[in-house]
Amino acid sequence: MSKTNEYLQRFMNGVIKRNPGELEFHQAVSEVAGTIFPYIADKPIYHKMQILERMAEPDRVVMFRVPWTDDKGNIRNQRGYRVQFNNSIGPYKGGLRFHPSVNLSVLKFLGFEQTFKNSLTGLPMGGGKGGSDFNPKGKSDNEVMRFCQSFMIELRRHIGEDTDVPAGDIGVGGREIGFLFGQYKRLENRFVGVLTGKGMEFGGSKIRTEATGYGTVYFMDNMLTRAGNGFDGKTVCISGSGNVATYAVEKVNHLGGKVVTLSDSSGFVHDPEGITAEKLEYLIDLKQVRRGRIKEYADEYNSASFHEGRPWRVSCEIALPCATQNEINEGEAKTLLKNGCIGVSEGANMPTELAGIDVFQKAGILYAPSKAANAGGVAVSGLEMSQNSARIAWKEAELEKLLKDTMQTIHDSCVEYGERKGRIDYLAGANIAGFVKVADAMLSFGHT
Ligand code: NDP
Repeated sequence: MSKTNEYLQRFMNGVIKRNPGELEFHQAVSEVAGTIFPYIADKPIYHKMQILERMAEPDRVVMFRVPWTDDKGNIRNQRGYRVQFNNSIGPYKGGLRFHPSVNLSVLKFLGFEQTFKNSLTGLPMGGGKGGSDFNPKGKSDNEVMRFCQSFMIELRRHIGEDTDVPAGDIGVGGREIGFLFGQYKRLENRFVGVLTGKGMEFGGSKIRTEATGYGTVYFMDNMLTRAGNGFDGKTVCISGSGNVATYAVEKVNHLGGKVVTLSDSSGFVHDPEGITAEKLEYLIDLKQVRRGRIKEYADEYNSASFHEGRPWRVSCEIALPCATQNEINEGEAKTLLKNGCIGVSEGANMPTELAGIDVFQKAGILYAPSKAANAGGVAVSGLEMSQNSARIAWKEAELEKLLKDTMQTIHDSCVEYGERKGRIDYLAGANIAGFVKVADAMLSFGHT
């Protein structure tokens, strides 16, 4: 075994021992460490100062009880979390997730990833993540409001516009951010940019809602363009039907591609004629207003059919996983390749299992890891923070240009750090480009 692999193995054994049973966290750290150890092999200062070891340990983890009352008067009890992972280059920044699968492992993987992603944006933001095992699905607006208010009673002690600025994620959209911000303002008697993803009436930024989905598509477009190709006429499979998936469809349509699938946790719809702007409007009403299931799309349109499982067996040239972690396994990665897939851009966080990534990497297709491909959302969140601090509101066209330029800059950083014998390894490029800035800031701080 080479010296580098030996160090890597020893490092991962330590991570696994210190964080028993946290499989998603092990997976995220392993994916990063596999590319960072070769990079730092000839840079002993990072070893001496234990930089990666320190980056794999959150600054702090807060866990708290969130009691709330349902519409029948029953007292319910949930667990709340905020993982403040690393604030070397700016205040902690990262979303809140409300989903029954939320646990410490999931939030630690997300907070770890967020640190690298935020660094890639070029903006001064550290990494954090939080949330709860609360399930907003099937709850009334009043129940969601009471839960959000109770959650904020504790969370407010740990956040602040210069300390930690949460945003949305799975299960936390505009409705939840409104309830959370209203409660923070009431408890603290301060109107500050303590959350991003806010409504336009109370300090939100144009383009924030669309930014993650648009950014994921821009990143794919940048890779295609560099390879002398483009979106025009391409068939695209997208998973999910939430915030990220919805605006990914919109941007693919703008660029001349055809989206043929969308999904939710019950299954997927296949529409070979494409999800047009008109059909997307129906979907937005179905998912965001009526909070219905994806099957209803197939009931509405004759061209579409509903299937159980995930959409990756449908033929496509481009795949944009935009639902959740570990939604493409090794077999599904092979199926995508067999059916002609030439590019994957990850809108969701860590949607591809390690073995699936290996399949894409070995095949040499255009593979954009989530920390680069979905960084557009947090980039515009960073711009929302700037607008709030300066008490100004930028125009949509300015913000869309900033988002597009940011995705191009992230792409170019990945190329700079990921060039390997004429081929671009976007995974290594994203990890190393994200690592360098945070690591060098940590070196400046000494033993902190
Ligand atoms: P939403 O809650 O708006 O949508 C999530 C979608 O994914 C829904 O269609 C949901 O289906 C589906 N989904 C969730 N869990 C599962 C599961 N276990 N199996 C199958 N489908 C599932 O979330 P977002 O669109 O905001 O987030 C999607 C992904 O993008 C996440 O990985 C998130 O971390 C990532 N992301 C989001 C950003 C943002 O700005 N919102 C920024 C960067 C990354 P159902 O309704 O049935 O649960």
